Amino acid sequence: MDILFALVIGLAIGSFLNVLIVRIPKGENIAFPASHCPKCGNALKWWHNIPLLSWVLLQGECAYCKSPISRIYPMVELLTGLIFATLAMKLGLGAEWFVTALIFSLLLALSVIDFKYYAVPDSLNFTALGLALLMPLFIFGWDWTTGDVKEFSFYQQELLERFKDAAVMAAAFFALGFIVKRIIKKDALGEADIIIAATMGAMLGFPLVLMAIYVAALAAIVPAVVARGHMVPFVPFLALGTWIVYIFSDHFMKWWGMLYA
Ligand SMILES: [Zn+2]
Repeated sequence: MDILFALVIGLAIGSFLNVLIVRIPKGENIAFPASHCPKCGNALKWWHNIPLLSWVLLQGECAYCKSPISRIYPMVELLTGLIFATLAMKLGLGAEWFVTALIFSLLLALSVIDFKYYAVPDSLNFTALGLALLMPLFIFGWDWTTGDVKEFSFYQQELLERFKDAAVMAAAFFALGFIVKRIIKKDALGEADIIIAATMGAMLGFPLVLMAIYVAALAAIVPAVVARGHMVPFVPFLALGTWIVYIFSDHFMKWWGMLYA
């Protein structure tokens, strides 16, 4: 039941992510006007806006002008639903589940935007980093049942740990970008990648974050070879690596333990 609940919440959040993905790169307001068809401009009715279901029922076409609706929309909704559901399996419902799922949803939105534009908006990127850094505050900072605010000492340690891991990762990516630029005379790692590396550091900590970078690099090899000189967006791979290592963190820690036993 919890998993189904998580899935439905995720589908709804995914629907909102689509709004962010379409509007933020164009500099549009994310709240107004209400959703409309980009072709004919007709405002969508609520039943045109049900995640996944509407796309299937409308057979991927606008209800008014029948122009095709991108497959990206239902895919983002489905993936966000799966993010919320799988995290509910790992963490159970609660503040940690919700904030973690929000961060991964933002990483998904950033991935799609990077794929389309080869650039990502700082607003979403910094929101993800902020949530990742302040996570202990949401989990331990107050009692959700009584609303009592806890002493700083309750989550101080966790909070400092996250800031430290984020700073180390940001510095490492900055240095790496600097070195790679010297060698290939091209910008390899942008500011956006540095921010995402910091988010990864805050979320995973060491040594998991290093494994996430490794998984991301492995996953990016084939597309990079196929693209040959064309730009390959790196954000989706960083997000994927973070996701895989986070979900299977127990396994990764076990392998790490075996390596250094
Ligand atoms: Zn239309």
